[in-house]
Amino acid sequence: MRFYIEIVISQTIFMSFKSLGLSDALLRAISKKGYTTPSPIQAKAIPLVLERKDVLASAQTGTGKTAGFTLPMLQLLSQQPPLRRRPIRALILTPTRELAAQVYANVKEYSTFLDIRSTVIFGGVNAKPQIATLRNGVDILVATPGRLLDLQSQNALSLAKVEMLVLDEADRMLDMGFLRDIKRVIELVPKRRQNLLFSATFSKDIKKLAQNILNNPVSVEATPENTTAEKVNQTVYKVDKPRKTELLIKMISEGNWSQVLVFTRTKHGANRLTKKLIAKNISAAAIHGNKTQNARTKALDGFKKGTIRILVATDIAARGLDIPLLPYVINYELPNVPEDYVHRIGRTGRAGASGEAISLVSAEEYEYVRGIEKLLGEKLSSEEVEGFEADPNYTPPPKQERPQRSRKKSNSSQRDTSGGSQKNRNSSDSNSSSKNSKRKSSNARRRRN
Ligand code: AMP
Repeated sequence: MRFYIEIVISQTIFMSFKSLGLSDALLRAISKKGYTTPSPIQAKAIPLVLERKDVLASAQTGTGKTAGFTLPMLQLLSQQPPLRRRPIRALILTPTRELAAQVYANVKEYSTFLDIRSTVIFGGVNAKPQIATLRNGVDILVATPGRLLDLQSQNALSLAKVEMLVLDEADRMLDMGFLRDIKRVIELVPKRRQNLLFSATFSKDIKKLAQNILNNPVSVEATPENTTAEKVNQTVYKVDKPRKTELLIKMISEGNWSQVLVFTRTKHGANRLTKKLIAKNISAAAIHGNKTQNARTKALDGFKKGTIRILVATDIAARGLDIPLLPYVINYELPNVPEDYVHRIGRTGRAGASGEAISLVSAEEYEYVRGIEKLLGEKLSSEEVEGFEADPNYTPPPKQERPQRSRKKSNSSQRDTSGGSQKNRNSSDSNSSSKNSKRKSSNARRRRN
């Protein structure tokens, strides 16, 4: 009986992914991963990519988009015998180191039964081993833009044989100031190639980028534009700013929550909150742009394994974190860019699981709630916790223009701008007009990525 059930189950697995046109070697890898049915974005994107179409996909992290492009990519590449010297035939660009590492891990897993070589390169770590691997030849390269261009300028890699180009989380790449780098990469890859662009949100800038890069693309959508994952319960808790930490600790302790991703707006805020949680015997770690790559990896590993209960992150650092079935996301502070809210809560309710997105909101942030609601086209349900009610007579002090600081100071103190200059943000280092400072910031960004 058990044997019969196993056959039925494996047939179902093979049938659904098989119907998308994937090879047996890939089906075996998928089955090893334990996926039973393709996610909506996979069902839509895989056949199109296999037909060698350019694809413009609207998909948040958590929808299974990575397999949506890596599976057909592996199939197309493995259909041809490997080229002599193994030039890079597929390039996947990602905004952050963490996302690059995760995409690469996926490529490795899905290519278990194929003769495909792949590697990943990003900044913050020694480039020498990366250069050595590239010299041996790889079919697929996953990279962040800064390190890619650095190594290309040192002749450590060539993009002259790229057949497929993927821009993953393109909206975040633009947000992090990578437009110039992307344009540079486009000059280095052959004109005839297949392009895939994935983005969670679709601003005018993204549409323009897509127009310039993609050739007659087919659009696919896993979730409606700028909406949050379906199974996420979103609640706003009104609370006065000085009492947020206390409320957070109460919620975590009384709910006995584990694997909670908490967002703060600044790097210092993340550090401060982490210390307070640890002081209350709640295991926590901060992840942000001032942390070394090793510290970031260690924190993320501990969080995934469950040795760290709370991960406190800034927006940039959290981008691309792949933590399956994350049950709780808490906005300790709301982002001033509404799209970031969508990205943040995309960390929960992933791949069909349900999740809770909780925002602790003080009077200073009510305008951010309105911005988010406008973007989502819905009202967020608002509650108060007994004993933590917001003072109805409190009026937030008027916002003061912060005095202009020097680039160095502003970089190290406030917003986590570790990914580069950011549009739409209050970061004072984002819009420098002089060529010199542009070059400096571009160099700094490359070093970081
Ligand atoms: P992604 O959106 O690519 O970051 O994927 C989100 C999570 O969903 C990852 O942990 C994947 O391993 C998982 N996943 C991807 N495709 C499937 C599938 N067809 N069934 C179940 N889980 C999946």
